[in-house]
Amino acid sequence: MRLSNRILTMIDDGDDGWAIYHETKRRQAAGEQITVLTIGEHDRRTAPEILKAMHDSAMGGNTGYADIPGSPSLRATIAERVEARTGVKTTAANIMVTPGGQAALYAAHTAALDPGDRALYIDPYYATYPGTIRGTGGVDVPVRARAENDFQPARADLEAAATGAKSLLINSPNNPTGVIYSRETLAMIGEVATKHDLWLISDEVYDTQVWEGEHLSPRQLPGLADRTMVIGSMSKSHAMTGSRIGWIVAPEEVIPHLLFLSTNTTYGVPGFIQDAAEFALNQGQGLEDAIAEPFRRRRLLAQEVLKGANAVRMVPPSGAMYVMLDIRATGLSGEDFAFALLDAEKISVMPGESFGTAAAGHVRVALTVDDDRLTDALVRLAAFAAGLVP
Ligand code: PLP
Repeated sequence: MRLSNRILTMIDDGDDGWAIYHETKRRQAAGEQITVLTIGEHDRRTAPEILKAMHDSAMGGNTGYADIPGSPSLRATIAERVEARTGVKTTAANIMVTPGGQAALYAAHTAALDPGDRALYIDPYYATYPGTIRGTGGVDVPVRARAENDFQPARADLEAAATGAKSLLINSPNNPTGVIYSRETLAMIGEVATKHDLWLISDEVYDTQVWEGEHLSPRQLPGLADRTMVIGSMSKSHAMTGSRIGWIVAPEEVIPHLLFLSTNTTYGVPGFIQDAAEFALNQGQGLEDAIAEPFRRRRLLAQEVLKGANAVRMVPPSGAMYVMLDIRATGLSGEDFAFALLDAEKISVMPGESFGTAAAGHVRVALTVDDDRLTDALVRLAAFAAGLVP
């Protein structure tokens, strides 16, 4: 039986960009000791008190079909948090709870696109973006943010792609670069979106990991809230990656349509997970800061370790849990470098090419092992790179 083109073309040539991750897993299973700096997942598990709230909720009977858009109290809690962080009036009617930010990205594009519509996203990008867009029937159009511009997108590049497009997906703080878009960049993005009548889909799942400057949501800029859907998640902010809970913040009239989509796809998020998320959000800023703190510290550590390196340049990261290293001085592609590093030093990092063409010649290092291991890995990575310089 033939499968649909839609599903057959979700990823390029069957390459999902995670070859090094799969190879690392294979080698680990064969007994190799590898320092894994690939995946964006904390080196701590979900806090016991959050798990207790989940347990109590389930034991209390909250195991049936749950409220599909999210429980009224969770939606109200999310809305309050969004309003407190942005100053933009937000109510439960603007919130749809989803099984993680990933499902929210899919839902937002489903809401924005008809089959064949062009959907813009910024390259380098989080690896699922093209597949998400193609999965909803859209045509994915990457727009380069250039290394020489510290990966802030430029108006000319956006304008060149925007005519006839329906949506623009942005991600700040950014995975993989760690870059936070400046107010000027966001204002420019807003102008382009308005001029070309684009939906702006703003992936803000790293909004609690801000090390320098300020995080701004496009909803905060004049005139943009009505065309913006914000993607939120508990994965990064509360170390709840496995719980699969996130949300969309959207204009009120969009939410009933997202509810239909959920009814016909996921049927919502389990009630005991929703209760745990509400409990976690009610712990306030302290818990979020504690979860973000190791990445703040390790970013400084990485800066310190790599400051004298001659073959590796660190893209200054303002947020998120990664650092991006420019290794073009070695003459290798990011992919060749990553595999050579894995062979020689048993350190696994992501090639920049996994995140599009704009980050070619770079590797992304996730700051997700303890400080001593990270220091050791970066010292060896820098020495390895230096040994490659022609
Ligand atoms: N958006 C970005 C930029 C990410 O890096 C991730 C996960 O790594 C996600 C969305 C999806 O996160 P989740 O579905 O766990 O909320």
